[in-house]
Amino acid sequence: MNPAVLHLPDALTRLAPELVDVELPDETRADCANCPLAGQPFLRDVRCCTYEPALPSFLAGRALLRENAGSARVRARIRKGTGLTPLGIQPDPAWSEAYVQRRETDFGRNRDWACPYWVEGPLSCSIWPDRNAVCRSWHCKHTEGFRGHAVWVAVRKLAAAAERRLAAWCAEVETAPEGTDEAAWVAYYTACARRVENARDEDLDTLRDSEIDALRESLAVAVSGLHAAIPDILGVEVKAVIPRGEQVELVGYTPWNSAVFPRSVFALLAQFDGDRPTGLAVQQACESEPSVDPGWVRVLWDIGVLRAREAGDVATWGFGGADLTPETLMERFDRSD
Ligand code: SF4
Ligand code: SF4
Repeated sequence: MNPAVLHLPDALTRLAPELVDVELPDETRADCANCPLAGQPFLRDVRCCTYEPALPSFLAGRALLRENAGSARVRARIRKGTGLTPLGIQPDPAWSEAYVQRRETDFGRNRDWACPYWVEGPLSCSIWPDRNAVCRSWHCKHTEGFRGHAVWVAVRKLAAAAERRLAAWCAEVETAPEGTDEAAWVAYYTACARRVENARDEDLDTLRDSEIDALRESLAVAVSGLHAAIPDILGVEVKAVIPRGEQVELVGYTPWNSAVFPRSVFALLAQFDGDRPTGLAVQQACESEPSVDPGWVRVLWDIGVLRAREAGDVATWGFGGADLTPETLMERFDRSD
């Protein structure tokens, strides 16, 4: 089974069976034991765990019941006294505000943002079996590029929706404490964990709804699109252009999965106007600039710089105009200054 969905509560996978039934991508490029981002650009120790996840009540409770390093971390987080709610332990409000303002610069790079459940050493996540949907689905890189990212977004949305249903049900049938008494919250969260552990089919039947159904369908659709052929009509969506000496780094769907090309890549991109078929675009680019490699199309597709034109995967704009040369394109996209 894909490690991202190992140890999910049985009740959660009964609500959302696609999480374990579909074949999820094997994300070998996001190799946490040999993190490709450790040291540059992320801090070597905390890496992407510069984040405080919302921990649903029943997952906090299950972590507490393990009586290990994770339990101690959850207890310490409860003692902090912020974000304790019937639905779970919410991120500290001060961190949430800072995260919104500075995530572009501080994510992965601010040790003060280390997750309260993170621990030193190879284990890193003290609550790994009980981590939430965001932590399960996050990968810095994707073997299938943008399509893989789409699958993990669908996983996250479905798992998070199932988490919300189960946490809301727990809050209805268990009595949450008021105030910040540690023992009372530990008792409540562990009661939620036991409640979910013993959920009956008739309990879960009341939690299914059209949103869960739609998200189950979305995950199946995203998985089926993983190995689809590259569409014939493509447009361009570049988030950033970063000069790398004689070459240029292009950023598409994420800064953590970009690619470096010779600058003649702009001669190729200039041909994708959102109407011209891919074969013709490549042919014309190669005629205008012999150093263009047709294999770049696959890489540009993987990193989300070339996008399909269908609804939901739309390039917001294409190229066109006689004055668009590789140099003017470079100026237009260069946000590095
Ligand atoms: S998911 Fe996080 S720890 Fe794992 S390889 Fe990527 S940045 Fe490193
Ligand atoms: S819960 Fe675990 S995986 Fe998620 S941010 Fe914290 S330490 Fe990292």
